[in-house]
Formats: sequence, C-alpha cells, structure tokens
Amino acid sequence: MQIFKCPRTSLICLSRWALVFVLFSAQAQEKQEDQQVPPLVLSPAQIHQGAAALYQKRLAELDAAHWLDTDADFLLKARRALARLQAQAALDFPESRAWQWDVHTSVEPLETAYAMAGGKLLIGLEQARLWNLSETELAMLIAHEMAHALLAHNQEEYEFVLDQFPEWRLRSFAELEQAVDHDEHLIKALAPLGKEQELQADQAGWRLAVRAGYPAAGLLSFFKKLVKQAGYPNFESASHPAPAQRYARARQWAIAPDDSAASNAR
Ligand SMILES: [Zn+2]
Repeated sequence: MQIFKCPRTSLICLSRWALVFVLFSAQAQEKQEDQQVPPLVLSPAQIHQGAAALYQKRLAELDAAHWLDTDADFLLKARRALARLQAQAALDFPESRAWQWDVHTSVEPLETAYAMAGGKLLIGLEQARLWNLSETELAMLIAHEMAHALLAHNQEEYEFVLDQFPEWRLRSFAELEQAVDHDEHLIKALAPLGKEQELQADQAGWRLAVRAGYPAAGLLSFFKKLVKQAGYPNFESASHPAPAQRYARARQWAIAPDDSAASNAR
C-alpha cells in the first residue's frame, strides 16, 4: 500500500518513512504496554471512591440545569428518613458506619431513584410527588435504595462482568464503571442479576425500615402504590421484577415479620 505520493529515494520521503517508522514503533510499544497492564482487581474503597466522583459529577450537572434539590421540604423529609435508617444500618451493617451517606433530589422528568456504592442516593422528585409518598412510604423507598449500597450490589455487578467477560480485566475501572450503565451488551447480561438484586433490596430494605421503627402497614403501602402506578403490574420490566410479585412478597413480610429476617440476603 502506498502511503505517500513521492519518490522513495527523495530525502523528504525518507524522512517521512522515518517518521512513519517512529510512529509505528511508538504504537507497537504502547500496545505492548497495554498488554502489560496488571489485571483489574477491585476493592470496596476504589468502588466507593469512583461512585463518589460520579455522584458529585451528576449533582453538578443537575445543579447547572437547576434540577437539584428544588423542594427544601421534601429534601428535609428525605434526610430525616435517611438519618433514622442510617442509625439502624450502623448497627446491622457495621462497615457502613464509616460511610458518608448522602441524599439529594432531582426534578429531571425521567429520574426515578438510585443508590451508588458507599451510600450516595438520588431521588426523582417528580415521581415521588406523583406517588404522593407518606413519610413511611418515602422511608421504604430510601431503605430499598440504601439496601442496594449495604449489600454491595455495585461490586457484585463488577465482579460478575470480570468473571463472565474476562477481557474486562484488562480495562480500567473507570471504563468498567461507565460500561455497566451504558454498554447495551453488558446491561443485557446483567439484567437477571439486577432483578435478583431488586428483590434482595426490597427484603433488606423492609427489614431495615422495620428495625428502625417504621410501621409495616405504611411500608406495605409503598408496594401497593408500586402496583397501582404500574401499567402492567404482573409483568417484569427489563430491569425490575413484576410489581405484583414485589407486593406479594412484602405482604408476606407484613403478615409474618420473621419471614423478612429469616432469609435476609446478606
Ligand atoms: Zn432497586
């Protein structure tokens, strides 16, 4: 393949070939260095640090769009519930005592709620308003999100990817962190685990809220609203189990409280 349109013997062309050789050598060396990168090993500290950075980035984006914490009363209610549940989590999950828990709200229309590793929560205000959540229902939502963090679900997802797709062991943690939320192939592969994690978060969240003193009837009401707001409550979505299934499980815990504790997923 001809790269440069010039006589091979001319000085300028030789210097170009020399440049090409230098570039190719540099690329080859870079590739070799890439292959020498030590396999990715995850630690909770690294995962928490990465999550905190992504959380701050997200908050800055929301702030710039004037979507962050626009309802001071709701934020206060959410923080009150978090503080109460956090105190219980410190007893039930001692490792969480050192965490910097945080909760913020967003009015971005499609925002629901999520938790990041190390206890960083974001709640979609529009949906919470639509559901007209009581104090206890809001506590159930927050407890569910907290449970995702307490059960180290992010770490479980990363470990699943590294186990099932070993090529990811040669990539950086930052790339993996982005990919689990944006790579369609990985999202699809992670879906069954994600649904299982949702059921675990329901159960651990329920137990946390009950132990923090919230009444079971109010917590169950959250799941009732989940069914009521769902278009097709008997069908699971791409990421979540069927709302009717989640409600049926919660109803069981309300009737027989020991059931939520007996097989609590820890
Ligand atoms: Zn969840």
